Amino acid sequence: MDAQTQVYDVLVVGAGPAGSSAARAAAAAGAHTLLVDRADFPRYKTCGGGLIGPTLRSLPAGVDVPVQQEIHRASFSLRGHALFERDAGGRILSLVNRADFDAALLDAAREAGVEVRTAVTVTEIAEADDLVRVSTGDGELLARAVVGADGSASRIGRYVGVRLRQTDLGLEVELAPDERAARAFTGRIHIDWGPTPGSYGWVFPKRDVLTVGVIQAKGEPAATKQYLVDFTQQQGLSHLPQVRSSGHLTRCREPDSPLGRGRVLVAGDAAGLLEPWTREGISYAVRSGALAGAAAAAMGSGGVGAGRALASYESGIAGELGVEMAAGEHTLRAFERHPRGFHAMLRTPLGWRVFTRITRGETTLARVVRHRSVAVGLAAMNRW
Ligand SMILES: Cc1cc2nc3c(=O)[nH]c(=O)nc-3n(C[C@H](O)[C@H](O)[C@H](O)COP(=O)(O)OP(=O)(O)OC[C@H]3O[C@@H](n4cnc5c(N)ncnc54)[C@H](O)[C@@H]3O)c2cc1C
Repeated sequence: MDAQTQVYDVLVVGAGPAGSSAARAAAAAGAHTLLVDRADFPRYKTCGGGLIGPTLRSLPAGVDVPVQQEIHRASFSLRGHALFERDAGGRILSLVNRADFDAALLDAAREAGVEVRTAVTVTEIAEADDLVRVSTGDGELLARAVVGADGSASRIGRYVGVRLRQTDLGLEVELAPDERAARAFTGRIHIDWGPTPGSYGWVFPKRDVLTVGVIQAKGEPAATKQYLVDFTQQQGLSHLPQVRSSGHLTRCREPDSPLGRGRVLVAGDAAGLLEPWTREGISYAVRSGALAGAAAAAMGSGGVGAGRALASYESGIAGELGVEMAAGEHTLRAFERHPRGFHAMLRTPLGWRVFTRITRGETTLARVVRHRSVAVGLAAMNRW
């Protein structure tokens, strides 16, 4: 090794919510931290930009969240029919444009002392002599610990051997609303339970655009595209000019999939950490990123061996996100078989209250599915 070569305590790959949270946590713990991303920021990310209570609560203090719309109403349909609307009388979801949101988290990481390099693509990773060697288009980087937060097509995830149980394809269009559409969606989201098992669609209004999206199991891209076309039409939005159209995969890990290998940890989408039913992933990215960053800092500054750092990260994930993912998967299985039952439940005052309490973070899906009557209902749905 060249005597001048810089060795970082922690190198984080990917500056989405998982990577910026990991880098910030590592720097806050005193680690000399570098964060790299292949994109220039601000950068676009295919995403509804819906922030639930647990996401907002997990953000570092002082981050000025660039909220574009606060949502207090929601309407629901089942394959375009049986429409109903509810008003919670207060915020249930905050909607952001991901480019602004991710840039704000990146700024928070910088302010915590993280060195940031953008337009740097990681191509390979290897470990030797208690060091991780990371190859990039700009040369080699060295670190004592690495966090892979490089999203759902993660290279670092492949190195670690992440195993997946569920992969879905999300498609979105950003539409420029006319006055009527903008008014109709002010403070309101729409959710449609879709035509194939586990699929659903959404309209999430931002300041200048309506994000219209659908998600369903990967493997039938033409059918997913057709659902987006049909859903846009059902919502009476087909005539609006398209500002952007894009797609992205979401992935959920096997419960015992590795979260690290040697001195390399994975977080967020790279680790397959995502709620299987709603495919909500930002809170998983922020929370797993912060845990991975703290564990990597302990490893990178030499305080804790690689094995112990990984074990502490694994136990943090199992205790919080693992429990939620299991509840999400259980719920998804019932929803796949009985979307009509879910639609009917949401229509009741109790169903709507549970929905709003989950999105606000006043309760969790795991706690809800443990409730005796819900547990019995889901078990029955999963048997039929
Ligand atoms: C259609 C759709 C809608 C969604 N809507 C929501 C929603 O409303 N709310 C919600 O909570 N979740 C939503 N999600 C999920 C959410 O977008 C993800 O879970 C979240 O972005 C994960 O964050 P992350 O930091 O792990 O990864 P990402 O945000 O994907 O960030 C990964 C970063 O890694 C960088 N990168 C990748 N490869 C390399 C490389 N080789 N070298 C260097 N850098 C690299 C990328 O440029 C990127 O900046 C949605 C997902 C989809 C597909």
